[in-house]
Amino acid sequence: MASNSVTVVGLGPMGRAMTGALLDAGREVTVWNRSAGKDTELVARGARRAGSIEEAVQASGLVVLSLIDVDAMYGTLGEAPLQGRVLANLSSDTPQKARAAAAWAAARGAAYLTGGINVPPDLVGKPEATVFVSGAQAVYEEHRASLDVLAATDWKGEDPGLAQLFYQLNMIMFWTAMTGFDQAVAVAQAGGLTAADILPYAAGTTDSMSNFLHFYAPRIDKGEHGGDVDRLAMCAASLDHVVHTAADSGVDTGVLQAHADLYRRGVEAGFGADSSTRLVELLRRTGA
Ligand code: NDP
Repeated sequence: MASNSVTVVGLGPMGRAMTGALLDAGREVTVWNRSAGKDTELVARGARRAGSIEEAVQASGLVVLSLIDVDAMYGTLGEAPLQGRVLANLSSDTPQKARAAAAWAAARGAAYLTGGINVPPDLVGKPEATVFVSGAQAVYEEHRASLDVLAATDWKGEDPGLAQLFYQLNMIMFWTAMTGFDQAVAVAQAGGLTAADILPYAAGTTDSMSNFLHFYAPRIDKGEHGGDVDRLAMCAASLDHVVHTAADSGVDTGVLQAHADLYRRGVEAGFGADSSTRLVELLRRTGA
């Protein structure tokens, strides 16, 4: 087993991009995928195709997993011997699933690192790529150089669930923003506009969000929700205008109505004169 060898299990777009980055960095890479045919280009570039999952796991001390979710790992690894291996599971899933997977790996003699890659496949290996990692620090330090080839590692601590928590928080921001864009485009199209027509304004709004987050985050942490800048009652009224614009356009209002209902509940709970950030407390209470 070469010391710079890495095994990649799971060759979707992300696993293929990771393998490519490792090959570019001169690593010896063994690959395995459940379905045949996804490794052809990688093998042509120098990756070694494992004949079985057992062979793949035995080929390298570090086994990077890039699967649809954490549960897919159990069936994929099956009964392959894992003693002495380090599994770096960069598949998206919940913190709880990550912790359970780490315990499962430990029971089989393997160390386990959790990760969440913050960029799409075409940016893997590029300077802007980052990945949250958590798990035993010594294991992380030992394999950091290989993981840094994929994306700059941001180690979040020993708890294997933490990297997934940070990753899923990013996903909350990402998916709600993408849904917002899809919703805006649908309303735009109903009004005879194209996605290109609204792109500069949509991008400008997204860019400006950073200012809002930097303004509100310290106030939220101090428990300050004064309505000096925005009042929840105003926000709720604004959201009603949004819902009605979508409805008048004949566009689905389900997601927007859910937003509007949340703001309305905040007003009904007596927070109409407070900032919209008071909703953080309402959301926490609802989930309790
Ligand atoms: P894909 O879903 O395209 O492929 C993931 C791999 O999972 C494939 O090897 C696939 O095998 C395998 N797989 C799917 N279902 C099962 C199952 N039930 N049992 C066993 N194996 C299964 O995902 P991506 O490559 O796009 O992404 C991989 C991970 O990276 C995901 O967790 C994703 O959330 C995360 N990620 C993806 C990004 C992206 O833009 N693509 C960005 C950031 C993170 P087979 O080929 O046989 O179907």
